[in-house]
Amino acid sequence: KKSPIYEPLTENGAIALAKKLQLLPENSQLTCNEIGDGNLNLVFRVENPENGESIIIKQALPYAKVVGESWPLTLDRSRIETNALLKQAEFVPQYVPKVFYSDESLAITIMEDLSHLEIARAAFISGKDLPLLSQHVGEFLAKTLFYTSDYGMDQHYKKSLVQQFINPDLCKITEDLIFTDPFFNHETNDYEPELQDDVEQIWQDNELKLEVAKLKQIFLTKAEALLHGDLHTGSIFADEQETKIIDPEFAYFGPIGFDVGQVFANLLFNALSRETNKQQILFHHIETTWDVFVKEFSTAWENDGLEIYTNLDGYLDYVLEQIFEEAIGYAGCELIRRSIGLAHVADLDTIEPYEKKITTKQIVLKIGRELIVNRKTIKNTQQIRELFNQTA
Ligand code: ADP
Ligand code: MG
Ligand code: MG
Ligand code: MG
Repeated sequence: KKSPIYEPLTENGAIALAKKLQLLPENSQLTCNEIGDGNLNLVFRVENPENGESIIIKQALPYAKVVGESWPLTLDRSRIETNALLKQAEFVPQYVPKVFYSDESLAITIMEDLSHLEIARAAFISGKDLPLLSQHVGEFLAKTLFYTSDYGMDQHYKKSLVQQFINPDLCKITEDLIFTDPFFNHETNDYEPELQDDVEQIWQDNELKLEVAKLKQIFLTKAEALLHGDLHTGSIFADEQETKIIDPEFAYFGPIGFDVGQVFANLLFNALSRETNKQQILFHHIETTWDVFVKEFSTAWENDGLEIYTNLDGYLDYVLEQIFEEAIGYAGCELIRRSIGLAHVADLDTIEPYEKKITTKQIVLKIGRELIVNRKTIKNTQQIRELFNQTA
């Protein structure tokens, strides 16, 4: 059978596809809305209004809209996203959307509709606590990362997986937007004019830039485990009971600390956007994410770790220490790039009044620098809170 030729779906096309695949009944009046935010991908929600049954069709576009221009971007990221969701489901099916169908030529992934949940960033901004989020994210991180690493997987099989998740276009976005552009006068940077002095200080800060270069090199070379690769709070759907992690199109084999650090940083953004007396829950989430990660990673290590590692006293502690150090550094990079780089976060951008937004971003930049430069001496999540209290 010939593979279909790629073209972007329309709402009617999405309905026709859902019927053709018999994912929703053919004899019904289906409705469809495009609900994505539209920079890289289309996201269609197709519903049977008779019984509320629904599915999500996500389709990659062959370009990204950035600073008014179009960057060509491989459709292969759709294959990566589907395969990452399927791989994660082997270890934590409770934390990822079910995949019903995928087609590489059309660059689509059809999955479970999670509209009954809310994107965690939006929920946090509206003041919700999401009490189980860090318990779930900690377990998601520990299991997806342990079981795709050399500690928990046959070395030959792991290399075949590394090959399957080679993702150069999406990695390049991270390499540029997180580790490179914010540290130079680059056209993609985007910040308020009031931050000009702070930004120039960063550009002249050789100590900082040297440490960022080291973290970038680790990102480029350390094929430790299959990362999610874009694990900010906009990639987490949640409510009081449930948590689901979506959007792993940046997945590739990289340093475990990168995923952990993005979670830390995005929880910090929300803490910084809140009144002092409402920040506590975010620090609880940072601490719980790490505590649960350590507990679940250690359990997996004990139960399923390759003997060559697990029989060696001190090796688990060494691995966890490396992961934490790198997580702290990557959290710092995320703090800086979301303040002055291309892609911002609503937690910071919606702070009012304007003067408070500026001073908060200045604090974010300071904390980011401290995390990067002092990552070897920051040994626990309590010290993140202390740094925050000293700076904010
Ligand atoms: P992108 O890669 O373009 O960021 P996402 O996968 O993050 O795409 O999806 C963009 C938006 O589409 C999400 O913020 C959410 O509102 C909606 N969405 C994506 N996947 C689902 C899903 N499985 N169920 C419900 N809504 C979804
Ligand atoms: Mg988006
Ligand atoms: Mg995405
Ligand atoms: Mg997304």
